[in-house]
Amino acid sequence: TQTETQKQHDLIQRKIVFIPNTKPFKGFSNDFHIETLNPTTTSEQRQLVCVNGSTSHPPPKKHDGSEFSEFGFDPELNFGITFRRIGAGLWNLGNTCFLNSVLQCLTYTAPLAAYLQSGKHKSSCRVAGFCALCAIQNHVSRALQSTGIISPKDLVGNLRQEDAHEYMVNLLESMHKCCLPSGVPSESPGAFEKSLVHKIFGGRLRSQVKCSQCSFSSNKFDPFLDLSLEILKANSLQKALANFTASELLDGGEKQYHCQRCKQKVQALKQLTIHKAPYVLAIHLKRFYAYDPHKKIKKNVEFDSALDLKPFVSGSYVSKQWSFFSYM
Ligand SMILES: [Zn+2]
Ligand SMILES: [Zn+2]
Repeated sequence: TQTETQKQHDLIQRKIVFIPNTKPFKGFSNDFHIETLNPTTTSEQRQLVCVNGSTSHPPPKKHDGSEFSEFGFDPELNFGITFRRIGAGLWNLGNTCFLNSVLQCLTYTAPLAAYLQSGKHKSSCRVAGFCALCAIQNHVSRALQSTGIISPKDLVGNLRQEDAHEYMVNLLESMHKCCLPSGVPSESPGAFEKSLVHKIFGGRLRSQVKCSQCSFSSNKFDPFLDLSLEILKANSLQKALANFTASELLDGGEKQYHCQRCKQKVQALKQLTIHKAPYVLAIHLKRFYAYDPHKKIKKNVEFDSALDLKPFVSGSYVSKQWSFFSYM
C-alpha cells in the first residue's frame, strides 16, 4: 500500500548521523523495539532480498514446513525459526562494510539461518580446508546468540575488496560448492537439485528464441541465484522486471536467426522469463553505468512491500507474494 511504501522510503532515505559512543555498549534494553516493515505478511508470502543500504526484519513467523515442499526442501528438516530479539552488530574491520551488510542479510534469511542453526552441515562436513558453509554457520550462530557487537572474523580470510553484490554472489557460490556430496560437480543438474543454497535461493531462467514466421521456439534453461536488473529505463522494481522479461527483436529485426523448422534465416524474438521462481528471491539493481563502472545511477527505484512474480514467470506458477525482507 501507499503508506507501507512511504514507510520504506522514509526508512531508506533517512539520514543517519554517527556520533562517538560515550559509554561501553551493554546490549539493548528490554524495551528495545523492532518495527516490522510488513506486519501483514502471511505464510503465503515468500521472501525477497534486494541488494542495493539498510535492512529490515523478516516476520517472526513459525513455519510448519509444508510450504517448503514445493521448493524441494527436505521435509524432515524443520525450517521454522523465530528471531526473538535483535542480534549482534558487526565491527567494521576496515572496508568490510560490504561484507557486513551481506552477512547481516544472510543471518536473517529464515530458511538459511534455520538450516545452519540445526547444525546438520557441520556435523557431516567433509570439506578439506576452508569451508564457506561451516564459516557462515559459525558466524550466524555467534550473531544470533550475542546482543553486542561481534567481529565477522569467520569470513574475513582471503577477502578481496568487492562490492556487496559481488561478495554475495561469490559467497553463495562457495557455500553451494561446500554443501554438495563429494564427487558431484558443482555445475551439474544434480548439484542444483541437491544444493541447499539452490534450494533456498535458486531459480531457473528460460531463454527463448521464437521464429516470427512459424512460431517455432527453442528454449534454453539456466539456474540462477539472483537476478541482475537494469534500472536506467525503470523507476520501479515492477518495471525493471518487465524490461528484463520483455521480448526483443534479435539483431534489430535483421533475418539472422536460422530457424530449425523453416530451414532458413528469419526474424526472431528473444525473451527471458523466470521459469522456476526461487523460495528466497535476491535481486540486484545495477546502479552503475555499463560504459563507466565508476559512475553511479542515482535514482529512486520504487518497490512495494510485496511482489507477485506472475507477469514474469513462464513455468507453472500459482500466484503468491514475495514479501520484502531485506535491502542493502
Ligand atoms: Zn563445512
Ligand atoms: Zn520458423
